[in-house]
Amino acid sequence: MAVLEIRDLHVTVETDEGTTPILNGVTLTVKTGETHAIMGPNGSGKSTLASTIAGHPKYNVTSGSITLDGEDVLAMSVDERARAGLFLAMQYPVEIPGVTVTNFLRTAKTAIDGEAPAIRTWTKQVKEGMKNLRMDDKFAQRNVNEGFSGGEKKRHEILQLELLKPQLAILDETDSGLDVDALKIVSEGVNRAKENTGLGVLLITHYTRILRYIKPDHVHVMVKGQVVEEGGPELAERLENEGYDRYFAPGETIE
Ligand code: ADP
Ligand code: MG
Ligand code: MG
Repeated sequence: MAVLEIRDLHVTVETDEGTTPILNGVTLTVKTGETHAIMGPNGSGKSTLASTIAGHPKYNVTSGSITLDGEDVLAMSVDERARAGLFLAMQYPVEIPGVTVTNFLRTAKTAIDGEAPAIRTWTKQVKEGMKNLRMDDKFAQRNVNEGFSGGEKKRHEILQLELLKPQLAILDETDSGLDVDALKIVSEGVNRAKENTGLGVLLITHYTRILRYIKPDHVHVMVKGQVVEEGGPELAERLENEGYDRYFAPGETIE
């Protein structure tokens, strides 16, 4: 079992206007086998939390802690975090020109496991993973995310998730821009990973739609860099009906 503990996390970024606080004391614990949804309006700091856990250099942790099984995640390099079992599916996956999907996946798997996967079983796993996610075979020879549609990018993120077998995955708006069919396929992939490996999931989303397919045990609402409310699946249902208005003062603008 693995436990990711985020304690009173404060994060800033440097902008033209100077040092800007984005996260203002976030506390959260995610264990393997659990699914947590982080919901919130645009600009509330959800992606900042994901990027900070993954080790994006742009985000400065000014106080608080992130630990994985008691180990200081903030002291780890991005690679070390991945090897420790953390995985981030990005909201906006980046293109990697000149690197094919096949090579990328194999390199990532080798880096994470510390040895190259046995070629036969690996090839079989990749094929099977792509088939499950309804990805065409030709996909394997394309450069990572180059010219991929929104849905293809998200499928490729879930393919990585299924092949790399992390302990804890942060999925940042994996649902955004997906039609219902793609959403189902992607959700099935996440649910397979949950069943097969006991994956813990931190599911970041603006909308409740994906939560019909991936059932959260816990729901956290983030507004202005803080978790302002927590509950079970019923909280997501309420947000579906009421939106985020209640967290803002009358007349205050929501992005
Ligand atoms: P969410 O994912 O909830 O929409 P983000 O974490 O992307 O929110 O952004 C939260 C706030 O932090 C926004 O006001 C955004 O403009 C700001 N922000 C995030 N990343 C950066 C950055 N790299 N540089 C400047 N501002 C940023
Ligand atoms: Mg956003
Ligand atoms: Mg975001």
